[in-house]
Amino acid sequence: MTEKRVPIGEAYAVLGTTPPPEVNPWYNALRQLDKAAEAMNLDSSYHKILATPKRVLEVQIPVRMDDGSIEVFLGWRVQHNDARGPCKGGIRYHPGVHRDEVKALAMWMTWKTAVVDIPYGGAKGGIKVDPHALSQGELERLTRRYAFMISPIIGVNRDIPAPDVYTGPREMAWIMDTYSQIVGYPEPGVVTGKPLEVGGSEGRNEATARGLQYTVEEAIRVLNIDPKRATAAVQGYGNAGYFAAKFMHELGMKVVAVSDSKGGIYNPDGLDPDAVLAHKQKSDDKSVRDFPGATNLDKDAKAANAKLLELDVDVLIPAAIENVITKDNADRIKAKLIAEAANGPTTPEADDILHEKGVLMIPDILANAGGVTVSYFEWVQARYREWWDLETVRNKLRAKMTRAFRDVYSLHEEKKIDMRTAALWLAIDRVVSAMKWRGIWP
Ligand code: GLU
Repeated sequence: MTEKRVPIGEAYAVLGTTPPPEVNPWYNALRQLDKAAEAMNLDSSYHKILATPKRVLEVQIPVRMDDGSIEVFLGWRVQHNDARGPCKGGIRYHPGVHRDEVKALAMWMTWKTAVVDIPYGGAKGGIKVDPHALSQGELERLTRRYAFMISPIIGVNRDIPAPDVYTGPREMAWIMDTYSQIVGYPEPGVVTGKPLEVGGSEGRNEATARGLQYTVEEAIRVLNIDPKRATAAVQGYGNAGYFAAKFMHELGMKVVAVSDSKGGIYNPDGLDPDAVLAHKQKSDDKSVRDFPGATNLDKDAKAANAKLLELDVDVLIPAAIENVITKDNADRIKAKLIAEAANGPTTPEADDILHEKGVLMIPDILANAGGVTVSYFEWVQARYREWWDLETVRNKLRAKMTRAFRDVYSLHEEKKIDMRTAALWLAIDRVVSAMKWRGIWP
């Protein structure tokens, strides 16, 4: 009997394609840029340059699977802009990754590094893969082959990757090693978010949420919210979500709801973030769902996540993926403050609705910039081969985040524009100034 052939060509034809504008983060990133450009009356020459990434690399990643077969994955590295310094940004492993998403995330990195004023441009990487379906060996081969494929365009002075969704210190160590084998010497500065033993930094793991905490502290002061009487809800319970819940709890807030891709939980008296993490880690499906002492927000994971966003809380922290706050639910959001730990969780239409409603938004490019800021600290330490203690890292991070929040907040007040547009204005201004000084060559 002849084996039925799988139409591989057809399957791969759709692999790299991008979704329609309504659900495409690149369109959202461009619309945000247009809005800021309009507000600040940006020179159209620079607007055009910023509306396109500097370089997009698409790579094929063949991986020998444990059963001996070969699987081929698609990956990208996008460098959006390097006017202010080497490109910088994480690498995402997710089944939903596509080229346009990586382009959007790279553009957001350009703004992020400019908002906190660290000497970098913006980049992002991604592989379309479900990492949970791979063994550790397969993941290592995938990561090393991807690192090899992008090695011509990364480097300590060119482009420095870091963790993002479903990647962490382990993957960064593999990338550091692969790159070091290629160049022939250990290069800890080529990637950040590494384990401490190979040139990582104290405080990098908690950095995204720690930076978010510092901006929330500033925001609740201007909003006159007493953290000891405040409630919070966190969507997503990965690195950023867990630490964000923990730090809001440390500030004295009641974290009444958290969720992940499998479900969400609610307790009006507050959840203990560490106990929830322990439950998630030991549960069969690695979920916060069915946490003892809390009720499940819904049987269906999607519905649970949707309900979490609309809870009557003071502080809402989306810490998962893009496009969760849209024109369809923005009107029902009750939080007074939104702090975006995720990249791109709010669509431009939803931004307008929330601004109208008077919700204070700490946009992603400010709220979650603590991650890349401590990445910068790690890069500096790696280059000097000199290591700082946790207190030094936290103090330096607090100074950066507080300064950035105040800069953005003042512009938002002064120009009567929403916080995202203010953050973009500040960032674009810095990037364009650098571009003007450098000029165009050749
Ligand atoms: N992936 C993180 C972000 O979106 C960190 C990037 C970095 O440290 O370079 O900001």
